[in-house]
Amino acid sequence: MTAPFVRTLAELRRATRDWHRSDDTIGVVPTMGALHDGHLSLVAAAKAACDRVIVTIFVNPRQFNQVSDLDNYPRTETEDARKLARFEVDAIYVPDVSQIYPDGFATNVSVGAMTDVLCGAHRPGHFDGVATVVTKLFTQTSADKAFFGEKDFQQLMVVRRVARDLDLPVDVVGCPTIREEDGLAMSSRNLLLSDRARIKAQRLHEIMQQVADSLRQGAEFSALQAEAMASLDAAGFTDIDYFELRSCATLSLLERPTEPARLFAAAWLAGVRLIDNIDIPVSG
Ligand code: AMP
Repeated sequence: MTAPFVRTLAELRRATRDWHRSDDTIGVVPTMGALHDGHLSLVAAAKAACDRVIVTIFVNPRQFNQVSDLDNYPRTETEDARKLARFEVDAIYVPDVSQIYPDGFATNVSVGAMTDVLCGAHRPGHFDGVATVVTKLFTQTSADKAFFGEKDFQQLMVVRRVARDLDLPVDVVGCPTIREEDGLAMSSRNLLLSDRARIKAQRLHEIMQQVADSLRQGAEFSALQAEAMASLDAAGFTDIDYFELRSCATLSLLERPTEPARLFAAAWLAGVRLIDNIDIPVSG
């Protein structure tokens, strides 16, 4: 089957109008391409829950805060279509910038709460870019359900907030992080790592797991944080943007997992920014 590429909003609208007429539920999986098994797990979840599935591939310039990061972002459209073939999705929406941000576009969706910490604190404007593009993609696709990875946990929270606050009629579904065999969270950015850096990258998840084990045994986070950061440094990570224990509900800092919590980390390895987060069971 040839990939059902849709490149314009007009074409997308024609397809979704017919689907709504037949009362089909529409699922959307927003991505920036360079698809891996993490993305494909979202596609599988969408296929299981919806009659029609749209995968969007759009490298959103508004969510990049460094031009070099945008320029270097991997783009692998033909390979992406090949990976999607077995799922028989109904549309691969690959808009160019003019379909999302036409001339004169002047609207910005900005979520006030929860974006001043973690990635929001280190990537100014990033979550405005995310909130704006998902609002566009939700309205353009008129999806009933949208599938996002817990790998980008703060993003999932932001997207949920946007949908709620703007009464967007879309159910935002969170899906678990898919990992490589050595525990590294799958990410399109992993493609940018050299073989040597790729081996070092596994330390991020290992160190997070060690901290998680100590938290389970009742240790206080502040006693573990400095050691974990030193271990990352020793493993070759150059800058650690954050390594923090936070509440899942509010993202406020925690010393112990006395409520549903996650350990969040972002660190740079050989010029590539890696992020991860893991669930920490409530204790203490
Ligand atoms: P991206 O293409 O990086 O913007 O990601 C598109 C979607 O895939 C987002 O909802 C991500 O959270 C999700 N995603 C990325 N990596 C993973 C992963 N390893 N496991 C599960 N979902 C992921």
